[in-house]
Amino acid sequence: MSNKVILVVLDGLNYQVAHDCMGYLNGLIEQQRASLSPIQSELPSLSRPLYECLLTGVRPIDSGIVSNHIVRRSKHDSIFSLAKNQGLRTAAAAYHWVSELYNRAPYQAVRDRFTQDETLNIQHGCFYQWDHYPDEAVFLDAEQLRLSHQPNFLLIHPMNIDDAGHKFGLDSSQYRNSARHADVLLSHFIDLWLADGYQVLVTSDHGMNNDRSHGGTLPEEREVPLFMIGSAFAHHGAHIKQTDICGLCCELLGLDHQKPYPKESLRYD
Ligand SMILES: [Zn+2]
Repeated sequence: MSNKVILVVLDGLNYQVAHDCMGYLNGLIEQQRASLSPIQSELPSLSRPLYECLLTGVRPIDSGIVSNHIVRRSKHDSIFSLAKNQGLRTAAAAYHWVSELYNRAPYQAVRDRFTQDETLNIQHGCFYQWDHYPDEAVFLDAEQLRLSHQPNFLLIHPMNIDDAGHKFGLDSSQYRNSARHADVLLSHFIDLWLADGYQVLVTSDHGMNNDRSHGGTLPEEREVPLFMIGSAFAHHGAHIKQTDICGLCCELLGLDHQKPYPKESLRYD
């Protein structure tokens, strides 16, 4: 396989809310152009530990990134490092913790917010440090990176759904409406991405609870969606673990890698 890949991580998006509120993505499923699998987040159900899990396939307990307060670079191969070391182009529009995990820690906004450096794991980056930085801006930042640099792998990581969950809780109109807003934003781009040869995965790090937080083992904190969109996917609802998503991206990209992935989720014809 040798595809370009866009991984969208909608921070803090609970599975049921994604299922109920995201009409565009669910419309693609009704037309057999996408599929949706429930994913159980690894533990703790916290952001930084699960960014590392999604991007390296390593569980928090094994990676050592066990809380949001651990500020250091990852010690594992990531989609970014594997792709960069095998001559592919990498890019991310993401929260600054992603820059800390794969490029440089601690984050220095003046140095790191806009990154262009072919020697770094994330060669082209637009990072932000505000939880309320608009999702719409993150998608525009990502599209600018995509059109300017034609990355083989692009991570897009908006934060507003998580932010609404922390302010209003899982069972709130504000939380659900942020998911609906992300669905509208995705509807502006997905056809363009598919036409340009990308395979697209839309998932989340963790869900949300009614205490306006997450971190534990409640189903609503752990159950997140994985939408797979594109012709390289088998679209027959395979059982997928959160630790498989890294390997799935590596396999789609055609990388040499040792990461686990669900072979039955991909079409090899
Ligand atoms: Zn959060």
